[in-house]
Amino acid sequence: MAAEGPGEQSPALGCGESPNTDGSQPATKLSGKMDKPLISRRLVDSDSSLAEFPSEAPKVGILGSGDFARSLATRLVGSGLSVVVGSRHPKRMVGLFPSAAKVTFQAEAVGSPEVIFVAVFREHYSSLCGLSDQLAGKILVDVSNPTEQEHLQHRESNAEYLASLFPTCTVVKAFNVISAWTLQAGLRDGNRQVPICSDQPEAKRTVSELAHAMGFTPVDMGSLASAREIEAIPLRLLPGWKVPTILALGLFIFFYTYNFIRDVLQPYVQENKNEFYKLPFSVVNTTPPCVAYVLLSLVYLPGVLAATLQLWRGTKYHRFPDWLDHWLQHRKQIGLLSFFCAALHAVYSVCLPVRISYRYNLVNLAIKQVLTNKSHLWVEENVWRMEIYLSLGVLALGVLSLLAVTSLPSIANSLNWREFNFVQSTLGFVALVLSTLHTLTYGWTRAFEESSYKFYLPPTFTLTLLVPCVVILVKGLFLLPCLSHRLSKIRRGWEKDSAVKFTLPMDHALAQKTSHV
Ligand code: NAP
Repeated sequence: MAAEGPGEQSPALGCGESPNTDGSQPATKLSGKMDKPLISRRLVDSDSSLAEFPSEAPKVGILGSGDFARSLATRLVGSGLSVVVGSRHPKRMVGLFPSAAKVTFQAEAVGSPEVIFVAVFREHYSSLCGLSDQLAGKILVDVSNPTEQEHLQHRESNAEYLASLFPTCTVVKAFNVISAWTLQAGLRDGNRQVPICSDQPEAKRTVSELAHAMGFTPVDMGSLASAREIEAIPLRLLPGWKVPTILALGLFIFFYTYNFIRDVLQPYVQENKNEFYKLPFSVVNTTPPCVAYVLLSLVYLPGVLAATLQLWRGTKYHRFPDWLDHWLQHRKQIGLLSFFCAALHAVYSVCLPVRISYRYNLVNLAIKQVLTNKSHLWVEENVWRMEIYLSLGVLALGVLSLLAVTSLPSIANSLNWREFNFVQSTLGFVALVLSTLHTLTYGWTRAFEESSYKFYLPPTFTLTLLVPCVVILVKGLFLLPCLSHRLSKIRRGWEKDSAVKFTLPMDHALAQKTSHV
């Protein structure tokens, strides 16, 4: 390792300029491969003779010695670059960096490299102003991320602010979306894309090459004016999941309250029965299937609405309303939440017999049976209903699992468009039909029994059937030849109003004719 004060000379350290003892090639080329160890034993070894940088290795500077600077230095050294770190306290920080990186005072560190990463927070940028002269003409890479509050507070991005402090430098915004952990741990588990922006194309190209050398994929985001947008990326929290999650939570609250009123409150008020013990388990168990089923139908409802709109307008070239567009874009998340609720329901159902309340009820039933002198309790209809009901539920969950698995990017990418469409559209619809049959066999004739209308409220399953039945019905209608033919024509570009009239003024008879284009 090398810690130096200003004026002190130390040998430049590198990632294996000297020949390796095992005869392998020293790591002097920019490999960009992330499968190899981030940093070889040799590079972290304190024996500097084994880790000397070749003189031609591009030199990269880093200002700051915090978490990001350390991970970045490790990554750069592992990629075969020569690194010099500028710190206010180099002696204190040197032990934390790979031995191949040179750790020195800020003023000395910025002397030779053309590219300097500024790994300090925005509020400390001004403390670097003393380095203005040494930094003149260099490329400064702004890796900073604002907090949510800072992002709202400053209209100017961190990168633009840095550029205003150092007008003689070229500022490039990059690497802020990569965490220190990803830099250290390698890319297999992390995001590979690095959005880059700058007002200088040449500087952007240099930093892009560096990103490539480190195994990342640079994404050109244009001029420095895009920095604010890039800085907003790490502030996002599951953006595609907000609306679907709120929807699922809303449905959960609605159905939980509804089931509570029917299964707990009604027996308490009208029959003086205390069944509040059902709140943590039974009522919860009856809620996720309702949510899962309605959510699944909401995956297919926007497609049905879009097709209806296309049929009505007679074209596919009119934009859908924004709300429908957003809904169509969120179908994957809604489907995955549906699968999550269905899986929860399956686990809860398997646990039902484990509850002590279940065992008490079973024993009480048996005692009642003995007291009433009934030896063989067997209702054939109930037995059949339950067998079919459970089997349909398991089948529906199986198909839903398949849908969930194929929506994973790694699986989805291995399917061609037709296969993906078949799984998501056809099998998805099969899952909806199976769930509907599962619900119908669960409800059986109860929708027609007066005792099922507690507090005049219809049984929960009848409510859940509404949307899915509409979706299945309309999808069935779309299979009618007159509708399916017109719909497929529209989807291949046909338009109702695409008739263009050609009038030939010389011939009055011909002028009456129209031509279809
Ligand atoms: P950190 O651990 O707090 O390091 C910040 C470094 O700034 C300090 O170690 C310090 O190094 C240096 N510094 C220079 N002048 C300073 C001053 N006047 N006052 C205080 N410190 C000063 O923070 P970090 O996590 O490495 O983050 C550094 C930058 O990288 C931030 O802009 C952050 O937004 C960005 N970033 C971080 C991550 C991450 O995962 N950590 C990810 C993306 C982006 P010396 O004491 O050696 O001078």
